[in-house]
Amino acid sequence: MSNLLFIVAAPSGAGKSTLVRRLVDRAPNRVLSVSCTTRPPRPGEVDGRDYRFMDAARFDALREAGDFLEWARVHGNCYGTSRGWIAAEQAAGRDVLLEIDWQGAAQARAIFPDAISIFILPPSMEVLAARLRGRGTDDAEVIERRLLAAREEIRHVDDFGYVIMNADLDTAYAQLASVVEAARLTLSCQRQRHPEYFAYF
Ligand code: ADP
Ligand code: 5GP
Repeated sequence: MSNLLFIVAAPSGAGKSTLVRRLVDRAPNRVLSVSCTTRPPRPGEVDGRDYRFMDAARFDALREAGDFLEWARVHGNCYGTSRGWIAAEQAAGRDVLLEIDWQGAAQARAIFPDAISIFILPPSMEVLAARLRGRGTDDAEVIERRLLAAREEIRHVDDFGYVIMNADLDTAYAQLASVVEAARLTLSCQRQRHPEYFAYF
């Protein structure tokens, strides 16, 4: 299969959803996995688009049934990636992006060793705090918890193949798009995508 799996991680508020959403919106053959979570929806979030929101009992039932490719407890809630959905998207030939934390990234990498993993860093902890507050979706206590967790998340940057510093949004987006484009241009990807072309030469 020539389709690719991208793993994108970052501390909360670094801008990964903003960047990944833009990337997915601009290519029909690229999809973002919609995770299951026990976190309550934020204002404006839509079930099935942003997450599949569910209670802990439903999440545990899915986990016990082996439905998750990976799952983790993050900031006090459970998050998981649907194994079946990923398989269907890959079978349909689409590139899949996972926007997950470092624990989930480690699990996904064990299953897909060829996955391309990208870490998004904020320019500073001060900017990270300002973005979390500016987003206006979480209360002060949740923001504090996320800031404490940010350093732990950043400690795992060494597990990732690419690092993007999201200071200016357009620059960071261009860098993310470059990583994706470069991954699609490897010999093995090109060979699988265009067998007739290689046969011709
Ligand atoms: P994450 O998904 O990593 O938690 P978001 O994508 O929700 O982060 O971004 C957090 C906030 O920061 C949002 O309000 C978003 O609009 C803003 N943001 C993201 N990238 C930038 C940037 N480069 N410059 C300024 N604000 C940004
Ligand atoms: P948020 O609550 O801000 O949407 O996400 C909080 C954290 O959970 C982020 O680090 C995000 O990447 C992570 N996350 C979201 N979905 C998943 C998932 O399916 N699996 C794992 N392991 N982490 C996830």
